[in-house]
Amino acid sequence: MNYHNITKDDMLNGDGLRVVLWVAGCLHHCPECQNPVTWNPEGGLPFGEAEKAEIFKELDKDYISGITFSGGDPLHPANRAAVTALAKEIREKYPEKTIWLYTGYLWEEVCQEEIMDYLDVCLEGKFEVANKLLTLHWVGSTNQRVIDVKKTRQAGRIVIWSEDGSDDTDYAAGSQNGPCGCGF
Ligand code: SF4
Repeated sequence: MNYHNITKDDMLNGDGLRVVLWVAGCLHHCPECQNPVTWNPEGGLPFGEAEKAEIFKELDKDYISGITFSGGDPLHPANRAAVTALAKEIREKYPEKTIWLYTGYLWEEVCQEEIMDYLDVCLEGKFEVANKLLTLHWVGSTNQRVIDVKKTRQAGRIVIWSEDGSDDTDYAAGSQNGPCGCGF
């Protein structure tokens, strides 16, 4: 797996202050993507033990809420195994930290993947310029869903993440909501 950057004290890619790993490789090629430089899985630098230690050093800090995997697409075939292994290790080593992941795949395409055992939040779907909305909190277009992974798997229906942990979504009304296609 290759990566482009590790950003620290990041407030823009998930709840709280986070460390963000920006991986290389994305097959979705959304028009007006902000990071087309990340599309090539051969781009960037190899991710190795030094980079992992850099991430763990951040997660050791009390004020860091967790890690966000972004890119590129962390679930690109070239990244999926390595990101899953890293997420698993972080879940075991830092059970109190949260793990968020951006992907251009739909929840229904990836919800059976092992990595969902380790995620708290999955921000999914391609960026659609026709549905671009600048006021959205964590995503760029209204089709993209910020999915609370644990609650969704428990409920067997898509539960949108909420800042206060409440589950007061009207599942029938919102365009973001609907039955979970995973059969959990
Ligand atoms: S999924 Fe994300 S990184 Fe990939 S092309 Fe779309 S906006 Fe860009």
